[in-house]
Amino acid sequence: MRVAIVTVGDELLVGDTVNTNAAWLGRRLDQRGVTVARVTVLPDDVGEIARVVNEYRAACDAVLVTGGLGPTHDDLTMEGVAAAFGRDVAASDEVREWLEADGYAASDLAAGTTEIPEGARMLENPEGVAPGCVIGGVYVLPGVPDEMKAMFETVADEFEGERQFSATVTAAEPESALLDRIASVRKEFDVTVGSYPGENVRLKVRGPDEGVVEETAAWLRERVESPEE
Ligand code: ATP
Ligand code: MG
Repeated sequence: MRVAIVTVGDELLVGDTVNTNAAWLGRRLDQRGVTVARVTVLPDDVGEIARVVNEYRAACDAVLVTGGLGPTHDDLTMEGVAAAFGRDVAASDEVREWLEADGYAASDLAAGTTEIPEGARMLENPEGVAPGCVIGGVYVLPGVPDEMKAMFETVADEFEGERQFSATVTAAEPESALLDRIASVRKEFDVTVGSYPGENVRLKVRGPDEGVVEETAAWLRERVESPEE
């Protein structure tokens, strides 16, 4: 399964907010064996949201959109996603009933709180009052990280792929010096290898067979210089 992540918010583009939602979702999807095909940050703009969601839903099995759900003027995600399907947003009875069951009267809530794209399935928000929704493989989640995580977990089962295993080997050598051993690993074992330089180089071995991944990591550990303890 291939999934795209779209995070919406002007504050993300200029670095006022760090995009922890994308990192958390990417990790969570990867744990479930799902291939994360794209992570994109968009401004609060209906046209941009509609265009990108449309492109990604054609290219991927599902799209996860977070941010911009509340009732303020800059919360445009529901409209953008609706527009991607050529629809309008509309007040949803399902949303009103959920909020009422939670002790809110629709009249207490800001206008727009119960609106989702026409024909979408509502997703309950276990941590707040802004509902999410699903329409045609596009999942719309809140921006507040705790709300986003709690809502994702209610649909996590709908995201599944071949389980991948990984192991990390740390090498105290320049990346350029490791090229020969990385090339050998890629030739001899059915794994992918990521190389992440920092103070040391982290080599991340990944593959569908846990035994092969462990064997590869052991092979590498024997052949690279370990950092001093
Ligand atoms: P609300 O209903 O409260 O308005 P929302 O779903 O509309 O929530 P936003 O208005 O986009 O979400 O953002 C709410 C809060 O969550 C802000 O403080 C914002 O900085 C933070 N936030 C939004 N997107 C992200 C993200 N991708 N990573 C981390 N924090 C985020
Ligand atoms: Mg908001």
